[in-house]
Amino acid sequence: MTSTASGGGLTGLTASELAAKLRAGEVSSVEVTQAHLDRIAAVDQDVHAFLHVDAEGALAAARKADDDRASGQAASPLAGVPLALKDVLTTTDMPTTCGSKMLEGWTPPYDATVTRRLREAGVVILGKTNMDEFAMGSSTENSAYGPTRNPWDLDRIPGGSGGGSSAALAAFEAPLAIGTDTGGSIRQPGAVTGTVGVKPTYGGVSRYGLVAFSSSLDQPGPCARTVLDAALLHEVIAGHDPMDSTSIDQPVPPVVAAAREGAAGGLAGVRVGVVREFSGDGYQPGVQRAFDAAVRQLAELGAEVVEVSCPHFDYALPAYYLIAPSECSSNLARFDAMRYGLRVGDDGTRSAEEVMSLTREAGFGPEVKRRIMIGTYALSSGYYDAYYGQAQKVRTLITRDFTAAFEQVDVLVSPTTPTTAFRIGERVDDPMAMYLADLCTIPANLAGNGAMSIPCGLSDEDGLPVGLQIMAPAMADDRLYRVGAAYEVARDAAQGGALINRVPTLEAV
Ligand code: GLN
Repeated sequence: MTSTASGGGLTGLTASELAAKLRAGEVSSVEVTQAHLDRIAAVDQDVHAFLHVDAEGALAAARKADDDRASGQAASPLAGVPLALKDVLTTTDMPTTCGSKMLEGWTPPYDATVTRRLREAGVVILGKTNMDEFAMGSSTENSAYGPTRNPWDLDRIPGGSGGGSSAALAAFEAPLAIGTDTGGSIRQPGAVTGTVGVKPTYGGVSRYGLVAFSSSLDQPGPCARTVLDAALLHEVIAGHDPMDSTSIDQPVPPVVAAAREGAAGGLAGVRVGVVREFSGDGYQPGVQRAFDAAVRQLAELGAEVVEVSCPHFDYALPAYYLIAPSECSSNLARFDAMRYGLRVGDDGTRSAEEVMSLTREAGFGPEVKRRIMIGTYALSSGYYDAYYGQAQKVRTLITRDFTAAFEQVDVLVSPTTPTTAFRIGERVDDPMAMYLADLCTIPANLAGNGAMSIPCGLSDEDGLPVGLQIMAPAMADDRLYRVGAAYEVARDAAQGGALINRVPTLEAV
């Protein structure tokens, strides 16, 4: 093996390249899977992307994918390709902790629909990835099991809450990953690790078996190193599911075809709106410059670029930090020491209330407790209208901003996040600073439409990755992939190869 940043050989390839080699019989899934397990063994003590690696289960799934292929029955275009699964989706053969002590050692009795679809498609699940506790956070520092580190600089955060999934991609430990996005937890980690992340339209991917944080916002989605890989994964996991009452019963947008069309065809006739509110004070100049350069490239590809104002986006963050904690305070009531995981102080002398209280005190970390308290307060009688009710009105105004904008343009763009990856520890004592990482990603969660983050170069100040966010109308997720794929081709031509092939820190590993 050569010692390149990707570990050399198979781990340096994209999912579509691996799929082509598997199809041609040049490699087996067992070889591909073993190469990724070796990579994990070599680098994950530094990166800590995984909470659980299931080498045996992964190799068994790989053998099955190889056998199916040998008998002419490859289950899907991604059959035999490995993947890292965020530890908030249930798995019957692995623990599901949600990054919390509350669920330490809990193995769920059923698979999430996303998990089931991955298995049915022959995708090989390598293990479960680290995350902020119950998906609350922007840095993965809120995990009860220690932080994940950003492969670009091990002293920096990989984003959150799905930092483990994005770091696994950036460290070449997996070519594909699954994330979940309530306020930005797929896109913001994607941005700061130089990888692609997509929040599909709400209802596009089933939430069945996704441990709930804020049910009206939560959405699973694909993470990958290229737009085409994300599209292939999107088509595996998306589609109607009767087990999720908010699942949309409509055909999945043709995202793979859109990615291929975008890569081949440029952007003539596509109208792109730059969100005026997402620039200026608070945006790192190097992020702004990389974003501005990306917008120029979109114009060079033939897109018609205009500035668009979405005036209520300025209120998205406060509205989110009322709605998400309110739903969280209700959803997390189920962790009552009786039904799942941890139980503290149950020595026969204490009441159920005392055991519940001791368990919740010991089992939840500070950020989760903060959210439960804020949410309980916002929903309480006498305050409901002033907080939760008001936030719901703002949510409607944000949806109207999107509707008005999409009358003028096909997609909206902004930086994904105002800054590049910050240092581990830098924002842990300042919740407001932490929340600001999601300033640009939250509107799409509140309105429910799809959005993508795609790497758009490195900041000229610190050499760290910057994300371009693309937003499309609900159920027009194919537009994200068309624009993203066209941009990706132009970016790689201009910047000399995919960004992700230059991960400096790990070169030495
Ligand atoms: N960082 C945001 C929060 O802390 C978003 C989290 C998410 O998308 N799961 O709530």
